Amino acid sequence: MQITEIYKSLQGESTYAGLPCVFVRLTGCNLRCIWCDSEYTFHGGRKMTLDDARDEVKRLSPDGGLVEITGGEPMLQEREVVPLMRYLLAEGYQVLLETSGERPLERVPKEVVKIVDVKCPDSGEGETFRMENLRTLTRRDEIKFVLSSRADYKFALDFTTQNDLAKRVNSVLFSPAFRKGATGARDSSQCLLDPQELAEWIIADNAPVRLGLQLHKFIWDPALKGV
Ligand code: SF4
Repeated sequence: MQITEIYKSLQGESTYAGLPCVFVRLTGCNLRCIWCDSEYTFHGGRKMTLDDARDEVKRLSPDGGLVEITGGEPMLQEREVVPLMRYLLAEGYQVLLETSGERPLERVPKEVVKIVDVKCPDSGEGETFRMENLRTLTRRDEIKFVLSSRADYKFALDFTTQNDLAKRVNSVLFSPAFRKGATGARDSSQCLLDPQELAEWIIADNAPVRLGLQLHKFIWDPALKGV
């Protein structure tokens, strides 16, 4: 399996935000979101066997806990990543999978919490979500929309309502996109959509969603990798 990095930090973008978490970041992505902050995962990385990856997770978090499989797009390496998820579950870890939902998700073990980042139009990768994946979602999963405009908000709210997402999953997250290449200030001036504006829209519409912020970007320099 091709892996960009394995490191320990705090989970930053779901209902698990704030909890210590080991991240297994796989190399490669088939999308090119305009505001992507993970372009360094598109190429490079190093080959690791399942045992190498599992041993590194155990070294960083020997007593279990949270592990997030992310990327890039981890499901591009489904053949290796699904067995890794099974290994980690068998070792007692709680496993999160962050994915765009562009690849099929049927073979993801049901104990894994899927955090599915449905792309909005202004990402430049709208309409890449595989609608059949809605059938794989359970009450433990989460759907996230990263928003950079009112048009994105409208798309995300319509998608949420039309597909009854609030009843299908644990949480629907609306999160403002961060400016690409943001560095220095750790505050909402770096967001492409003002969180205050987003909060006001959510309240006005009584939307069945949770406002999410990329917690790590308010803790560390937004340009920092491996946090
Ligand atoms: S899916 Fe994720 S890693 Fe891929 S381009 Fe979009 S934001 Fe970047």
